[in-house]
Amino acid sequence: MNIHEYQGKEILRKYGVAVPNGRVAYTVDEAVEAAEKLGSSVSVVKAQIHAGGRGKAGGVKVAKNLDEVRTYANEILGKTLVTHQTGPEGKEVKRLLIEEGCDIKQEYYVGLVLDRATSRVTMMASEEGGTEIEEVAAETPEKIFKEVIDPVVGLSPFQARRLAFNINIPKEYISKAVKFMLGLYQVFVEKDCSIAEINPLVTTGDGDVLALDAKLNFDDNALFRQKDIQEYRDLDEEDAKEIEASKFDLSYIALDGNIGCMVNGAGLAMATMDIIKHYGGEPANFLDVGGGATAEKVTEAFKIILSDSNVKGILVNIFGGIMKCDVIAEGVIEATKQVGLEIPLVVRLEGTNVELGKKILAESGLNITAAESMADGAEKIVSLVK
Ligand code: ADP
Ligand code: MG
Repeated sequence: MNIHEYQGKEILRKYGVAVPNGRVAYTVDEAVEAAEKLGSSVSVVKAQIHAGGRGKAGGVKVAKNLDEVRTYANEILGKTLVTHQTGPEGKEVKRLLIEEGCDIKQEYYVGLVLDRATSRVTMMASEEGGTEIEEVAAETPEKIFKEVIDPVVGLSPFQARRLAFNINIPKEYISKAVKFMLGLYQVFVEKDCSIAEINPLVTTGDGDVLALDAKLNFDDNALFRQKDIQEYRDLDEEDAKEIEASKFDLSYIALDGNIGCMVNGAGLAMATMDIIKHYGGEPANFLDVGGGATAEKVTEAFKIILSDSNVKGILVNIFGGIMKCDVIAEGVIEATKQVGLEIPLVVRLEGTNVELGKKILAESGLNITAAESMADGAEKIVSLVK
């Protein structure tokens, strides 16, 4: 789960990780009032969307007085920001963060992720703050320093200090930078983060070390024990189809292609997307209906796939293990009865009750193309949507 920058900063503040003063605003008047209350000579108007790269897209503006706050708030609220992280359709700005302007000396990067190769939380830092870290990684990887963290010991002060020295933080800021990193690690672990990225972390003219930006992502599987984090969920920022899928416990991720996929098992779902691409098609989604799906769940899954107007054909690829092929067949028929089916549908069934499943589909009177194998199914759906 993703949250907004201002929410991330609220959490950081509670852990003693320094952030500038700021207030959230939903309207232009609230923005001006927030700036008045902050009372700083310079304030920054920041678009709150679940995506980075806002600065370059015109979503971060420095205002020198209240009139400018009003002008910028007016300009940014309601605007659709297109950044490298939003995709071409962009995201509409519905909230603003009004923040104290900060006298930046130098921008750095600090991030925490779970490194799957070592199975350990890893802190990364770089002198190249403010820019996209992906670019730094591609062009000057030697400028990214890492500390692999032992889960029993946690991030050690000496590791934080080594990182701070490696990225050339001046010595008068080192102890504050170390405190910052230790606090950030504590947030990451206690709040079950999957990412905690501060870009930029800055040193200021007043001698402070602050997080000017905050991107925190949380492990969905841990949300049950993070009630306060659940409160931060903003459904406006999520794909409507993914929200619907989460209600039915379906693992669904919307993609850009036009072939809808309904599959059981994450591995088979990945392989299905691969084979569609192999035959020159593009999947419209990842969908794992799970091992023990009911006809109702299959129906809902089907409806979600069909609600995507990009979908021009559907491939159902089911291996009936715990899941029975006749249940899938009934779900498919029920769904098409409820929502209608005007696009090609290719079904590949294998496993438990496969003959019964095939019979149910064949006798349904629906326009279904049966496939004999995964490759056969992928080839058929790709040619049908072309
Ligand atoms: P994004 O990463 O989405 O572009 P940031 O929050 O990193 O958004 O802001 C972009 C840039 O704007 C920062 O790198 C920093 O230079 C500047 N900036 C952001 N917040 C402030 C602030 N409170 N005071 C001064 N400059 C800021
Ligand atoms: Mg940033």
